[in-house]
Amino acid sequence: MTMTTNMTARMLSTTRVVGLACRRFGWDAIAAAAAPLVRTRAYVDGRWLDAQDDFAVVDPGAAARTEIARVADCGPEEAKQAVDAAHQAFRRWKDVTAKERGAVLRKWAHLMEQHKEDLARIITFESGKPMKESLGEVSYSASFLDWFSEEARRVYGDVVPSPSKDRKILLLKQPVGVASFITPWNFPSAMITRKAGAALAAGCTVVVKPAEDTPLSALALAELSCQAGVPPGVFNVVPCSRERAPSVGRVLCTDPLVAKISFTGSTATGKVLLKMAADTVKKVSMELGGHAPFIVFDSADVDEAVRGAMASKFRNSGQTCVCSNRFLVQSSVYDAFLAKLGAAMDRELKLGHGGEPDTTQGPLINDRAADKVVGQVEDALSRGARLLRGGGRLGSSFVAPTLLADVSPDMLCMREETFGPLVPVVRFATEGEALAIANSSRTGLAGYFYSADMSQIWRVAEALEVGMVGVNEGLLSAAEGSFGGVKESGLGLEGSKYGVDEYLHVKYVCMGGLAG
Ligand code: ADP
Repeated sequence: MTMTTNMTARMLSTTRVVGLACRRFGWDAIAAAAAPLVRTRAYVDGRWLDAQDDFAVVDPGAAARTEIARVADCGPEEAKQAVDAAHQAFRRWKDVTAKERGAVLRKWAHLMEQHKEDLARIITFESGKPMKESLGEVSYSASFLDWFSEEARRVYGDVVPSPSKDRKILLLKQPVGVASFITPWNFPSAMITRKAGAALAAGCTVVVKPAEDTPLSALALAELSCQAGVPPGVFNVVPCSRERAPSVGRVLCTDPLVAKISFTGSTATGKVLLKMAADTVKKVSMELGGHAPFIVFDSADVDEAVRGAMASKFRNSGQTCVCSNRFLVQSSVYDAFLAKLGAAMDRELKLGHGGEPDTTQGPLINDRAADKVVGQVEDALSRGARLLRGGGRLGSSFVAPTLLADVSPDMLCMREETFGPLVPVVRFATEGEALAIANSSRTGLAGYFYSADMSQIWRVAEALEVGMVGVNEGLLSAAEGSFGGVKESGLGLEGSKYGVDEYLHVKYVCMGGLAG
C-alpha cells in the first residue's frame, strides 16, 4: 500500500474502508468525497446496526481483487428484526396518502440524481462496471422511483355494475404488506429501485437482502431514502455474506409477517426461493435467467444489426439477463455480419478497470463467472466452432470479448446462459428454422431480431416465446416498459403501469341492503 492510500485509509476508518486503489476515479476519492454514502452497517428501522461479524467487499477490477470495505454480515436475527420493523411501519405507511408517498419517492429520485457521480463510482468499484455504464445505471435506477412516484396516485379500484338493484360491487386495491427483496450484483442499484419504487408506491414496506458482492450500493440507497423522508422501517437493508444468504433468505421467504417476495437472480436460486415461499403461500415475483436470441434476417440493415448486437451483447461485459446470448444469422448476410461485428469489436471495445475513463469492458464479477465463459468457448471449439476474436482470459476475471462462427445448437453456449462477453453465431436458412432454435430454450426473457419485412416483423414478434422483444433495437429497458419473462424466466412484471400490481391485492366489497 502507498503512503497516500495508508493515510486515506486512516482518515476513513469510521466507515471501515480498507485497501484503497488509486484510479483516476479512485476508491480513495470516492470514500473521502462521498463518506456519508459509503455505509457499511445494516439499515433497520431507520438506524444503522452492526452485526456480530462482517464480510469483505472487493474491487473485481483490481489485479489482486482489493478489499474496499467490510460490511455487516447479518444473520437470521437481524433479518427477523428488519421484518418486524417493516411490519410495524406498514401500519402507518399504508395510510399515508398516495400523493405523499409519491412526493417522498420523487425526492429520493432527485437525491439520486444529485449524488449521481458518487453512486456511480460505488457501483463501478464493487461490481466492476465501467463508469459510463454506472452513470447510466444511476439514472435508470432513479427513473423507477420517479415513474412510480407518479403511478402511486393511479392505483384506482373499480365500481362495477351490479346484477342486483340492492347491492353495489366495489373492487378495492390494497397493499399486500411487507415485501422481501433478494437482489443481484449486476445492477446493484436499479434492481432494488425497480422493486422498491413499486412497493412503496403501493403502500408496502420493504426488507432488502442485496447481493454479497454489491452491498454498498444498497446501503447508499438506504442513506438517501432516509434523507428523502422515507419513514423508519419502510425501507430496510440487511446485507450478508454468501455463506449466510440461505439462512437470511429463509427468514425473508418463510416468516409469516412477509406477504410478498420479489427476487432477481439465477433460475436455480429462484426455484429454491419459490419452494420456500410455498409453505406460507406468499405472493411472488421472480425475474430469472435469460438466454436471448438475436436474429438477423436477410432483409436487415446489417450495420444497424451490428450496432444493436454491440449494445445488447457487451453491456456490462455481457452480464445482464437480457444480453443477447445466441446469435442466429441468415445465410445471405452471415459473412457480412461476422466481418462487420468483428471490426466493431476491434474498434469499440477496451478492457480495463471500470474507473478508467476509456474502459468499455470491465472484469466479470468473479473467477467463477470467467471460468464459465472460458468453458463454453472451449466446448464450442472442441465441437467445430471457428474462433474469430478473443477466446481467452486476461487476468483473473477479465475475459477477452470473443466471437465464434459456425456454432451449432448442440454446443454448451447455445444451451445455457453465458453471462459474459461471448458472441456465438449460428447460420440459418429459413425463418422457421430460426424460430425453432430461438424457442427451443426453457427460458424466455428477452429476444431481438432485425428485419425490414413488415409481415415478418409481426410474425416473428408474436412467435418468439419471450417476455420482451427488441425489433431493430438492441436496448429495450425503460421504466415505462414492462420487464418480465415467460417459461422458466420468471413470474410477474416489473416497471410499467403493471409493476405496482405485484404489491397489491384486489378486495371485493359487496355493499348490500341498498334497495330504496
Ligand atoms: P449468482 O450466482 O450470480 O450470485 P444468484 O441467483 O445465486 O446468482 O444470486 C442472486 C441473489 O440471490 C444474491 O443476493 C444471492 O446472495 C442470493 N442467494 C443465493 N442463494 C440464496 C439462497 N439459498 N437463499 C437466499 N438468497 C440466496
